[in-house]
Amino acid sequence: MTQVQTIRGPIDTAALGRVLVHEHVFLMNMEYTQNYRADFFSEETVSRAAAKLKALKAAGIDTIVDLTVLGLGRHIPMLAKVAARTDLNIIVSTGLYTFDEVPGPFAFYGPGLLCDAREPMIDHFVKDIVEGIAGTTIKAGELKCAIDVPGLRPGVERVMRAVARAHLLTGAPITVHTAPRAETGLVVQRVLAEEGVNLEDVIIGHCGDTDDIDYLMRLADQGSILGMDRFGINFTITFEERVRTIAQMVKRGYVDRLTLSHDCACWSDFFPSVEAYNTAMPDHHYLHIHQQVIPALLEAGVTREQIDRMFIDNPRRHFEAAARRFAARS
Ligand SMILES: [Zn+2]
Repeated sequence: MTQVQTIRGPIDTAALGRVLVHEHVFLMNMEYTQNYRADFFSEETVSRAAAKLKALKAAGIDTIVDLTVLGLGRHIPMLAKVAARTDLNIIVSTGLYTFDEVPGPFAFYGPGLLCDAREPMIDHFVKDIVEGIAGTTIKAGELKCAIDVPGLRPGVERVMRAVARAHLLTGAPITVHTAPRAETGLVVQRVLAEEGVNLEDVIIGHCGDTDDIDYLMRLADQGSILGMDRFGINFTITFEERVRTIAQMVKRGYVDRLTLSHDCACWSDFFPSVEAYNTAMPDHHYLHIHQQVIPALLEAGVTREQIDRMFIDNPRRHFEAAARRFAARS
């Protein structure tokens, strides 16, 4: 029996059910929101978010992994308010999202820096997983970092190695935001493997943004799970290309390496209002996979059983295998 931390406490992995592995409840530049978006801290934001998550649960999804970490505006008090109003399991994450430098609190504090110390991010992430986030008892169940087109910048590498160490100390699995057009998933695999991470414990995020089957097979052949996780964002790649790529990967025997998600949010300051978000990306909402993607996958020859492998079995294995390996090491 393996347990996973959710915002309402630990649950058995058997209770994860259908999982969307890469979502956000809220997504923001916290400084901007604190200064300019008073509407975020409102009852309306909470009730609208709760309604969206309830509709998702009613559509058959049991769990989401909220990958909002430092750098993306994680706000535990608001998240907890929403979670209290829905039966959906929400797995909270820790880690840091940057494409380049580390933020101020870590810029001068660390190995060889002005305030010379053992890498503080490791303890920070471990504490979020083992004790709770920011003085709460809400524990993170997933680690997250990022590498985009600029590649392995010094700050990005520092975060990635700290995430790897925190994973080895806790057994929490890892998701990494990557940029397929720069093939940064391969860099992730190299760095994490150097740190001793089993690549099966890693979801390479945003693999759905490419139809480069060779690249996807190279990643999957190393054991990692691929996040086909940006359904509803149709400007880097079309909906049809996203579906066709998954069908192609399934056909080639990679169904055990695929997960599905949207990477969407109930509220984000990346758009001036919720209405502007909906207008800019009308398909980018929590029900898109149920309403459009599943029928299209079935049409493309993917079976219901294979879709359940992607929704249920693969996310469950992501948590169970990492915990099992951690127990074997301890
Ligand atoms: Zn995301």
